[in-house]
Amino acid sequence: MQAKNIFNQMSPYTPGKQIEDVKKEYNLTRIVKLASNENPFGFSDNVKQAIVDLTKNLEIYPDGYATELRQLLSDRLEVDPDQLVFGCGSDEIVDIICRTYLESGTNTIIAKPTFPQYKHNALIQGAEVKEVPLINGYHDLQGMLDQVDEQTKIIWLCTPNNPTGCMINSTSLSTFMQQCPSDILVVVDEAYYEYITADNAPNTIAALKDYTNLIVLRTFSKAYGLAGLRIGYGVANVVVSNALNVARGPFNTTKVAQKSAIIALQDEEFLHYSLEETKKNKADLLSFFDEMELKYYDSETNFVFVTLPVSGDSLFEHLLSKGFIIRSGEALGHPNGVRITIGKKEDMKELQEHIRTFLTVDSKEN
Ligand SMILES: *Cc1c(COP(=O)(O)O)cnc(C)c1O
Repeated sequence: MQAKNIFNQMSPYTPGKQIEDVKKEYNLTRIVKLASNENPFGFSDNVKQAIVDLTKNLEIYPDGYATELRQLLSDRLEVDPDQLVFGCGSDEIVDIICRTYLESGTNTIIAKPTFPQYKHNALIQGAEVKEVPLINGYHDLQGMLDQVDEQTKIIWLCTPNNPTGCMINSTSLSTFMQQCPSDILVVVDEAYYEYITADNAPNTIAALKDYTNLIVLRTFSKAYGLAGLRIGYGVANVVVSNALNVARGPFNTTKVAQKSAIIALQDEEFLHYSLEETKKNKADLLSFFDEMELKYYDSETNFVFVTLPVSGDSLFEHLLSKGFIIRSGEALGHPNGVRITIGKKEDMKELQEHIRTFLTVDSKEN
């Protein structure tokens, strides 16, 4: 069987190293995973307590409309319930958007580097992907607008951007939206929304009133710590959300995920704790980088991309042998750097010592 031609140039997603594999390979008992921006503080205890109950009646299909979660979020965000679309992670919303709007002969514009799923799914739909290099980790919004032509259907803005962590501010986003033709869908992926501390962040949900061509993506995978349950959502004008709801599978989010998301949204204490710890541990990591004279991108997220005097792969390998999994920039299109998720305080201290040793001793021996 021959898949579509484009599959010849594509391969399945290679995830960050799995904990069990690293334990075996390096004969370690404890692993700290700082590779995929998951929440090191876990998730709400209330979800943990509810989960046994949630597994009742698994023989029954979930509510395909996710009525209860939809109602709660529409109240919170002050949007119409029908403006929401839920997915098996926001990853699935990316796929649904591509299936709904892209086909051969169309094109889409993304930053480089950015979250790889935009390109991946666009290529599968036969669209051309135009990549516009970041400037100091930030989207080149004017450069992206300059790439617009008659065939452009979607522009992807990952903000804060993965893997750099840089955020598009309120003024820049307004200017961009005013200039962008209204028949081009603008996807603003806010997977790290909860981590933003800058005071000039855009209010993208409020902007939905002004722009019918805007969709905002959010997820329960990062700050809410529910990556393993797979649930995320998009918010858009009903013309867009209705189309996406046609394209999505009828039962694409599980009842355990829907209910856990509701409980997680109501546990403000856990969210607050995670955000505060992350903020402190990030500030500490950044002062360590300053002391080491390492340059890093501005980050409004729970990760930092730092550039190195050595290859990202070499630091990655070194830390792996010590039981720390980070993400080398190699796979992210940025060889001399690594992306590190902000972890727990003690783990980050130990990580810093390993990095210090590697850069001051090991690199000179090599
Ligand atoms: C993690 C991440 C997602 C995917 O989140 P899921 O909801 O787990 O699919 C989407 N966008 C960006 C930029 C991410 O970093």
